[in-house]
Amino acid sequence: MLERCLGPRRVRQIQRACRQGTITFLCLFLTFVVLRGTIGAGKFGTPEQDFNEIREHLYSRGRRVEPRRVLEEAQPENTESNNYATFDISKILVDEGGDDEKRDPKMPYSLGPKISDWDEQRAEWLKNNPDYPNFIGPNKPRVLLVTGSSPKPCENPVGDHYLLKSIKNKIDYCRLHGIEIFYNMALLDAEMAGFWAKLPLIRKLLLSHPEIEFLWWMDSDAMFTDMAFEVPWERYKDHNFVMHGWNEMVYDEKNWIGLNTGSFLLRNCQWALDILDAWAPMGPKGKIRDDAGKILTRELKGRPVFEADDQSAMVYLLATERDKWGDQVYLENAYYLHGYWGILVDRYEEMIENYHPGLGDHRWPLVTHFVGCKPCGKFGDYPVERCLRQMDRAYNFGDNQILQMYGFTHKTLASRRVKRVRNESSNPLEVKDELGLLHPSFKAIKLPTS
Ligand code: UDP
Ligand code: MN
Repeated sequence: MLERCLGPRRVRQIQRACRQGTITFLCLFLTFVVLRGTIGAGKFGTPEQDFNEIREHLYSRGRRVEPRRVLEEAQPENTESNNYATFDISKILVDEGGDDEKRDPKMPYSLGPKISDWDEQRAEWLKNNPDYPNFIGPNKPRVLLVTGSSPKPCENPVGDHYLLKSIKNKIDYCRLHGIEIFYNMALLDAEMAGFWAKLPLIRKLLLSHPEIEFLWWMDSDAMFTDMAFEVPWERYKDHNFVMHGWNEMVYDEKNWIGLNTGSFLLRNCQWALDILDAWAPMGPKGKIRDDAGKILTRELKGRPVFEADDQSAMVYLLATERDKWGDQVYLENAYYLHGYWGILVDRYEEMIENYHPGLGDHRWPLVTHFVGCKPCGKFGDYPVERCLRQMDRAYNFGDNQILQMYGFTHKTLASRRVKRVRNESSNPLEVKDELGLLHPSFKAIKLPTS
């Protein structure tokens, strides 16, 4: 019948094609069975699952191969590593040393060219730049918080992690309080390394930013533990320099811990430039700093033997020249502009139990300062484990006040992990902001009414 319709040749062609088709189909079927056996979706896999698994298998094989190919291309001798965990950082941290500008040792050290009319220069600038007022509200000076750390990485990489926590903590406080931040990592003057580095930096910033009324220096090892406390600026209207300390301890006892220079406020004015000049001479490292250290240890109460430090030098300056500087210096102890960590960190739970942020004093300290811990250095005065544990607690204590605004808190003061303290709401703007930190009045901008 077919032969009659199509002719014998055509039928033979069709028969041949069918035979070849059967073989092709058999081959395909076998391939499928083998693939399913090795990489298929298991006993109960559907064809779709099969397809997905096969695709996944082939794709992931391709991906796994690729990095090796990239490696082989990039490093014929296999000398470079992609492993950050084991990379030896000293390879890129070569000591540049050498070509620092050298001062003539016969010339006395100076922070910079003599300036004696800064108040006039600054007043003129403020008059010509009314868009940059030095007060941003009534009793609200424009403040620049300045902090920093060494240009080199810490001795132990974990020190850099704590520097990060510490700057995050300061960013939070400053954002809430309308304060600007400057983080310095440059050694502006090679002679003033270490704790003396702040002096040339502060002078440079005061002169470059006449719009700043107060500069707030804060050590990298100090953290804000009261996010709600606003500095009582009004109290300092007749003073230029505010440090945490006690008059009797500085002026009567000459005690080297009568004040602390880890967190202080300095007004931008001629008087500030003058006291920086009077403060600096013991700073230059080497013989000057070493010899000055001997004088300070001899003259100050309780001071151990070591090179001259900025704090002892300030106690010494005030104690020996009280008439010259004393009336402009406010030694604050009604709240913790600086708070020594040793007496605070074990009391955080008790504070949470009994008090609330916004007090700033022993009930809820504004600042907890890890004096002597040196988390970025090689050796501190206290056990490393105690310092780092307590720095975490201080950080979490402060951070809880930030997290609370968003409905979270750290599980404990020792924990990085957080938990919810309230359920999500479908009316998010109606949620009560207990500390009023989402929209604090001291941050509000009042637009002129026309
Ligand atoms: N510092 C700096 N550059 C340096 C070394 C230190 O800016 O190269 C700063 C840093 O903020 C540090 C502060 O100087 O916190 C004072 O040193 P430290 O806090 O270690 O002294 P302590 O408070 O323990 O007396
Ligand atoms: Mn410090």
